[in-house]
Amino acid sequence: MAFADNLTEERPTFVSHLECGMTGERLPADRLHQLSPQGWPLLVRYDLEALGRALKPQDLERRAPDLWRYREFLPLRSCANIVSLGESMTPLVTPPGLSRRLGGGEILVKDEGRLPTGSFKARGLAVAVSMAKELGVKRAAMPSNGNAGAALAAYGSRAGLETFVFCPDDTPEVNLREIALQGARLFRVNGLINDCGKIVGLGREPAGWFDVSTLKEPYRIEGKKTMGLELAEQLGWQLPDVIFYPTGGGTGLIGMWKAFAELGELGWIDGHRPRMVAVQASGCAPIVKAFEEGSEHAELWPQAQTVASGIRVPAAIGDFLILRAVRESGGFAIAVDDADIEAAQGAAAREDGLLLCPEGAATVAALEKALAEGLVNVSDRVVLYNCGSGLKYPMPAAGEQLDLTQQIDFEAVTRL
Ligand SMILES: *Cc1c(COP(=O)(O)O)cnc(C)c1O
Repeated sequence: MAFADNLTEERPTFVSHLECGMTGERLPADRLHQLSPQGWPLLVRYDLEALGRALKPQDLERRAPDLWRYREFLPLRSCANIVSLGESMTPLVTPPGLSRRLGGGEILVKDEGRLPTGSFKARGLAVAVSMAKELGVKRAAMPSNGNAGAALAAYGSRAGLETFVFCPDDTPEVNLREIALQGARLFRVNGLINDCGKIVGLGREPAGWFDVSTLKEPYRIEGKKTMGLELAEQLGWQLPDVIFYPTGGGTGLIGMWKAFAELGELGWIDGHRPRMVAVQASGCAPIVKAFEEGSEHAELWPQAQTVASGIRVPAAIGDFLILRAVRESGGFAIAVDDADIEAAQGAAAREDGLLLCPEGAATVAALEKALAEGLVNVSDRVVLYNCGSGLKYPMPAAGEQLDLTQQIDFEAVTRL
């Protein structure tokens, strides 16, 4: 059976308006927006009743297995504006070694490293850049710890957008170079991502760019939302018991929670919702601290440091949305040490053939810790998000030298 092509088949769209995530104030759709007038993230709202009449879960089955199969849940009005690099659905991979070691429970790893540009940032930027194209943006900028910048560069180049990316100067070198190679103007900044974000904000007027920072425009989160739609569909519209998500700016977690709310309202899923777990590194854990203190907002985390660069986010503008989702779901926020992240990464690679990114490995370390502390049970069905390919990060030096001019000693080669 040939699948319907989601990139060329026009489909009805259902955006009704945008809404301030804090005050609920309504703003018109189909315009360029940054933050709400009060300075909070905007959320896209849909006429879900009409959507539910137009689309049934089984209609999806005949569509090509990519992000655009959820078109009715996305803000883009016209196919002509879709900017796509092949956003395939990502697999749910079992890690049998990990599962055995942790007592035999059901664990699934959603491997987002298979997406274009090697991370789930492709979901957000595919939709944000498509919307930017639809709304006439010519120039865009963002701060990035690497993966978002790479996705902006790639999708921007594809769309003919001029892009500017500002990264902490200690971002993994591979990330910095891929950003430049894919056509963005890259700047290395002697600060952290929030410092880079300030530069992007300051430059809006003088440089005339659109600010695509996390949650400072409303459409990246709609792309990230497809992670939740896709997970629900892949699991036969039965959500897991717990989701561990490596949390930086939080768009993925907020987006998934939004997806589940929309699916619930449509009646495509029952009332069972996963407990959402925000995983952070001990060296940068503002959300964990705020969760534990019962606060609505997080404080700026001083001297943020972790090998999991994608979650080195000392301050998140959507902190209250992350905390809300975690609390509403009955979940929790948990921090893990870099040493445990590295150990988990090594174990997953050796035992299960999974080269996780450090952020993905952080969810493994967090699951181990949560099981040990009784926050999660072995009987829980758990999904871990590996948000990027491990190939994008520095790896330990390895390999033994062999001299071609000497006879090879295979006894030595195979000696353990
Ligand atoms: C950006 C990023 C994260 C954090 O994602 P948010 O949804 O912004 O919290 C986690 N892992 C990787 C690999 C990332 O690139």
